[in-house]
Amino acid sequence: MSEVLQDSEFGEDVATQAQVSILPTAERAPAHPEALAHRNLLDGPFWQRLAAYAKVPEADFLDHQWQAKNSITNIPRLLGALAGLVSPEFIRDAENGFHHAPMPVRVSPYLLSLIDWSNPWDDPLRIQFIPLLSRRLPDHPKVDLDPLHELQDMPVPGLTHRYPDKALFLPVATCPVYCRFCTRSYAVGLDTEEVHKLTFSVDPERWRAAIAYVASRPELEDILISGGDATQLRADQITFLGESFLAIPHVRRIRIATKGLAVLPQKFLTDDAWTDAITGIADKGRKQHVDVMIHTHINHPNEITSITKAAADKLCERGILVRNQAVLLRGVNDDVATMGLLAKRLSYLNIHPYYVYVHDMVKGVEELRTTVATGQHIEKQIRGLVGGFNMPTFVVDTPGGGKREVHSHEHYDRETGVSVWVSPVVHPGQYFCFFDPIHLLPAEGQARWARPEEHDRIVEEALAVARSKA
Ligand SMILES: *Cc1c(COP(=O)(O)O)cnc(C)c1O
Ligand code: SF4
Repeated sequence: MSEVLQDSEFGEDVATQAQVSILPTAERAPAHPEALAHRNLLDGPFWQRLAAYAKVPEADFLDHQWQAKNSITNIPRLLGALAGLVSPEFIRDAENGFHHAPMPVRVSPYLLSLIDWSNPWDDPLRIQFIPLLSRRLPDHPKVDLDPLHELQDMPVPGLTHRYPDKALFLPVATCPVYCRFCTRSYAVGLDTEEVHKLTFSVDPERWRAAIAYVASRPELEDILISGGDATQLRADQITFLGESFLAIPHVRRIRIATKGLAVLPQKFLTDDAWTDAITGIADKGRKQHVDVMIHTHINHPNEITSITKAAADKLCERGILVRNQAVLLRGVNDDVATMGLLAKRLSYLNIHPYYVYVHDMVKGVEELRTTVATGQHIEKQIRGLVGGFNMPTFVVDTPGGGKREVHSHEHYDRETGVSVWVSPVVHPGQYFCFFDPIHLLPAEGQARWARPEEHDRIVEEALAVARSKA
């Protein structure tokens, strides 16, 4: 830069230099329309494609209360909404799926209207929200109900303090929809036939204990209000929580987690009290120089419509930054094209793609998990597609060790699918293992896992290699 400025002061020199310097000659072909596909957002009354919603006017469909009231929570309601659209075979499969799922079922009409019902078996949104028994695979022997071991780092009920300067608080245990693969299936949602939950319900006593804990720990600067989902809190509850944390002088950053933008963007458009409560906390935070932002959870480009954009635009106008945390899901977004499109579409809405998590070791959803290698491959292929600040970090949330960048393992045995990680800040000197799904391993690896007496040896071998490299 400074050279350019200097040159322009010496007019003559510039002319001579121009003759010897290389002229920019690259001719770039016009962008292929495909390259702009991320801007093609579903618009208009798309929900009316479903017979059940054919007469629903826009005013109703944009009403968050209408969405909540008409959410599908059981098979009869699903049947009602899909009458004539799907085969009896699909309904039977879903019914069996509901009975065996670790998560309760809840789907908003908005989501339901985004599913391609001509092929529900493979639709990326169906896969995330409606379980089918026929697709179920046996759990990995190392899968458990609290895959992140959050309960081990919980000083008060519903508050996890694992990392030095941040705390994760679960104020509420319900969500506007339930993701089949929820990493907190130990706590989120109502009891199911498969799982009796440890519920962290809205309880002023419990909230006060969590706030008091944060106040008592001067090292805590970063508070995550997670869940459950913030859309389930009333406006006054948001304000109470936000103001309580803002009143603690050492709190410098607050993140409010909600899947609302993905599954109920109507909330931001028609629940003014709620949206204003979030805005109020953000405004108050800004005046105190405290960062207040929203973390959301969008996994597939089809989850982003013109309604999502209207909600994101509103937050943008109010100066509230949104970050996205996606989960890498088999059959949903585990390919380069889909993840690339997702990163571009999120960027287009000015939602920062923050993380992509390799699917945690969650019970009952083995068919949704992928390998660490898949995460590495996609990361490598899409880096450069969007601005560096919009490039998600691909992470493995190791049970007990926390998030690790997907390429940073100490050892990774592709045959047994065991990866070994360290986490110097969280637990110095310890190793943490993560396990690829067995059905995606080569035959030799599958054969070893088929023998229970081999399991300890498989893990010991991997740990020995990791130690030998240290
Ligand atoms: C993910 C997580 C956080 C936040 O981590 P970041 O990497 O800062 O997003 C904090 N606490 C717990 C227990 C977590 O799992
Ligand atoms: S919205 Fe989040 S907390 Fe709720 S079910 Fe989905 S993943 Fe779990």
